Amino acid sequence: MNQQRAPLRPLDDALAELLAHAVVLEGTETVSTFDADARVLAQDLVSALQVPPQDNSAMDGYAVRSAEIADEGVLLPVSQRIPAGAEAQPLSPGSAARIFTGAPIPKGADAVVMQEDCEAAGEQGVRIKRLPDSGQWIRRAGEDVRRGAVVLSKGERITPAACGLAASIGMESLVVARRPKVALFSTGDELVMPGSVPPEQMKPGAIYNSNRFFLSVLLRRLECEVSDYGIVPDQREATIKALAHASQEHDLILTSGGVSVGEEDHIKPAVEALGTLDLWQIAVKPGKPFAYGKVGAAHFMGLPGNPVSSFVTFLLLVRPFLLRLQGASRTVPHSMQLPAHFDWPRADKRREFLRVRHGKSGGLELFPNQSSGVLTSATWGDGLVDNPAGRTIAHGHSVAFIPFAELLA
Ligand code: AMP
Ligand code: MG
Repeated sequence: MNQQRAPLRPLDDALAELLAHAVVLEGTETVSTFDADARVLAQDLVSALQVPPQDNSAMDGYAVRSAEIADEGVLLPVSQRIPAGAEAQPLSPGSAARIFTGAPIPKGADAVVMQEDCEAAGEQGVRIKRLPDSGQWIRRAGEDVRRGAVVLSKGERITPAACGLAASIGMESLVVARRPKVALFSTGDELVMPGSVPPEQMKPGAIYNSNRFFLSVLLRRLECEVSDYGIVPDQREATIKALAHASQEHDLILTSGGVSVGEEDHIKPAVEALGTLDLWQIAVKPGKPFAYGKVGAAHFMGLPGNPVSSFVTFLLLVRPFLLRLQGASRTVPHSMQLPAHFDWPRADKRREFLRVRHGKSGGLELFPNQSSGVLTSATWGDGLVDNPAGRTIAHGHSVAFIPFAELLA
């Protein structure tokens, strides 16, 4: 069958099939909590203690029994001084305790009066200038984390705040999914590596290899171990050799370019020579051609060569796949509804992902050139509008916006 005539496949359908192939990798790794950012937690994190461990002061001031303070201006002797980290003695009746933020509340006290509402009266003690409410400025034991609570769940991707939360319950290391091993290579005889030829000496027809850079960075942001095979020439034998080698020790082989069915596109026959391949025409713009297959035990994914197509298909398909390999529970990015501050008068039969910027006005501005070769659109923009197939957009319409912050983390 002529592949180019194959019916276009809805993106969600392609994604569901990919995720069905993404069996979670076996093996976990224990990493320092310092190094756990962006890794996927491999087991529930249960707290063995409560946080904070005891009632403590939210302010610098004086701990008191609120019932003992009938009038503003009452003078109380100061019976103890409790800095953070100290142990408190029970509060003697009729007295106040000097207390500092984070210090434990002495037994018997039920309120803290902030020091701005007090006046030190030397030997005599302290004058309380404002009537306290019972419970004021006390941070309750366990108000952050209860003993036995699951503070982070298996499948969550660790964030900087999660590293802190894990530390707050005493975890110096965390058990996370192992890193997917990914072999990356670019195809295309026109490609030149930056640094190998200076811009003024580039031959006609030559272009610098840009995909290799963003793909490598995107993979590393997803905590993959990347083997970069560089540029593979547009020859069947060379492509087969690279694939065979890469398939031995990797979970995924990722390529860019050469995935169409032109004479110079060698990915399809090469993968088919070694394993299996499905070439999909996905109803998405930019992006259309995309290949999934297996070479030995390794998954294979072929991205289109056009830089923006490569970038967008990575974000929409490869990213969720790699997250799922690590056992991540959330693989799909959230979108938000925002007003379009542009017109998009021509509907496409494919679902489109337009490069836009979330402007100061609160609306979305469109990068003027949406060509799949114009990578500037993806640096100028800070996200994508997910525009359904067959839909036009008029200025003011509410559209689905996926910030790059959601997709690049
Ligand atoms: P292909 O998918 O190989 O037909 O390539 C489609 C277009 O993307 C062509 O214009 C290629 O020159 C370009 N292209 C392919 N690979 C890369 C790459 N790694 N970096 C920049 N452009 C590329
Ligand atoms: Mg090519």
